[in-house]
Amino acid sequence: MSKLIKNWQNRKPKHYKQHKKLMRKLGQHKGKRLDQYAEELHENTFQQIDCLDCANCCTSIPPIVTKGDVSRIAKHLSMKVSDFEEQYLTTDEDNDTVMNQSPCPFLLEDNMCFIYEFRPKACRQYPHTDNYEFSKHLNLHAQNALYCPAVFHILETMQQNIPT
Ligand code: SF4
Ligand code: SF4
Repeated sequence: MSKLIKNWQNRKPKHYKQHKKLMRKLGQHKGKRLDQYAEELHENTFQQIDCLDCANCCTSIPPIVTKGDVSRIAKHLSMKVSDFEEQYLTTDEDNDTVMNQSPCPFLLEDNMCFIYEFRPKACRQYPHTDNYEFSKHLNLHAQNALYCPAVFHILETMQQNIPT
């Protein structure tokens, strides 16, 4: 297991507070330079973490599933949309349509995704630290660092280089 995953497992409650503070600070520096920096950290971090050693997002955060996701996945599984919805989906407290089980029903024992090529858009975009979109999701990163070792490492590195 990667050292970064072990570091995340040893995180303390103080880290969440520090990350929230960091995100408030970064709110003043949103934009291209921050997104470029995040992009570099993302690339570097995912060279050190293999999601197949982790799968924590798939075991703990039911992804949002859009209508487009439903028709694509149901077609792939040769299911009627209504049957897919009944078997796999629910509505959460924010009124979003999400997978109805956690761990995700499509997570396999080896941490592979049974519907990988067809997975929901939310799964493709998680953890929102790349594609030069880090600034857009400043409200999510501190919370995501509780679940994702990669986000935790990215925020810890930023914190060392951007004093709060
Ligand atoms: S659909 Fe696949 S990638 Fe998305 S949460 Fe389920 S197992 Fe993970
Ligand atoms: S929680 Fe983060 S590191 Fe773990 S599998 Fe998901 S994206 Fe990869």
